[in-house]
Amino acid sequence: MTSTVFLSVVIPVYNEELNLPTLFKRLYPVLDQLGRSYEVIFTNDGSHDRSLELLRAQHAARSDVTRVIDFNSNYGQHMAIMAAFERVRGEVIITLDADLQNPPEEIPKLLEKIAAGHDYVGGYRLNRQDSLFRTYASKIINCVREKTTSIEMTDQGCMLRAYSRPIIDAIVRSGAINTFIPALAYSFSSHPAEVGVKHEERHAGVSNYSFYALIRLNFDLITGFSLAPLQVFTMFAMACAVGSFLLVLVLAYMRLFLHDDTNGVFTLFGILFFLISVTMIGIGLIGEYVGRTYQVVRARQRYHVREMLETK
Ligand code: UDP
Ligand code: MG
Repeated sequence: MTSTVFLSVVIPVYNEELNLPTLFKRLYPVLDQLGRSYEVIFTNDGSHDRSLELLRAQHAARSDVTRVIDFNSNYGQHMAIMAAFERVRGEVIITLDADLQNPPEEIPKLLEKIAAGHDYVGGYRLNRQDSLFRTYASKIINCVREKTTSIEMTDQGCMLRAYSRPIIDAIVRSGAINTFIPALAYSFSSHPAEVGVKHEERHAGVSNYSFYALIRLNFDLITGFSLAPLQVFTMFAMACAVGSFLLVLVLAYMRLFLHDDTNGVFTLFGILFFLISVTMIGIGLIGEYVGRTYQVVRARQRYHVREMLETK
């Protein structure tokens, strides 16, 4: 393998034994047909099934163009992609899911845009094939993101994307931990473009994202790129403070001048509970930012590579 190649394809793999054979069968012919030099980097993100075995076999079969990063345990999709970004040799980098939801046949479409001079090409899914819940939840998040950050993206969840090398270098240098790679890339790009890509149902298996992981990911997206949640909270807390002060005045007036204290205690309880929950949300929110700061300051190794399969 030469030290620089034209294209690096980056694929995170977590328990995808049912999809990998088909992925290999569909991906490599597309890349061979490009007639340019390429490499495919798979990151095995601590799979518990036979994924690693299959990746080993593929590496043996196509060692000229295949590299495998093997994590010791599960660090998540974005960390798996980051590890590959730190090792890419290509001038152009494409990310892809292993479950064939992003058809490899769409790769040339992205490359056309890069050839046209764009430094970042985001795919957006035509006819998204996910559950109604996922589709609508992501519409809402899209909307929140548009309002709170300066990132413009039709479809943040689509991982079929192409990046020019300087963007990947910038992402790696940023040392981001809990991050949302497409959004980070967008913030570094100067000439971004979007292109519609086909979306298929998961070829086999089930989504690796639990409800909790999805919430975390979307939280990362918002808190990683904007301080808006903290600012909105502060404003809300101020409004609450003014409101409760006025209420105290009203209650005092009723009690002192109208001698009416029939439901005073319960009203106060109500207000108190409300204010306590507001405070708790605030503490959680601050904790989120402090936690992120802590992770960066601590600068601990973000993932551990057990083994690297590559032919120099
Ligand atoms: N993935 C990963 N680590 C994880 C979860 C997922 O590397 O902890 C990979 C997975 O193998 C797939 C891609 O990330 O290639 C997208 O995952 P999935 O299909 O589960 O997500 P969804 O399409 O449901 O958003
Ligand atoms: Mg998927």
